[in-house]
Amino acid sequence: MAYKFSCRATGLDCDFIAEAETMDELMPKIAEHGKQAHDMEQISDETMQKVKAAITEEPSSESAGSEDKADETSGSQ
Ligand SMILES: [Zn+2]
Repeated sequence: MAYKFSCRATGLDCDFIAEAETMDELMPKIAEHGKQAHDMEQISDETMQKVKAAITEEPSSESAGSEDKADETSGSQ
């Protein structure tokens, strides 16, 4: 599972997207971006709520091996 943050989802007109394997890795990236791009020296509770709401969990599909397409083909007539 990976975490993805979209700045646009917080209501800002910004294309920044951060991705990380854990929240611990993701939060510093968001904080850094907030500082540099939006002059957010400190993230307020209100902003933090928006940030958390803008984080989505993505299934890590790097090693997409076998497609489970032909899983039940034994019931042929
Ligand atoms: Zn942004």
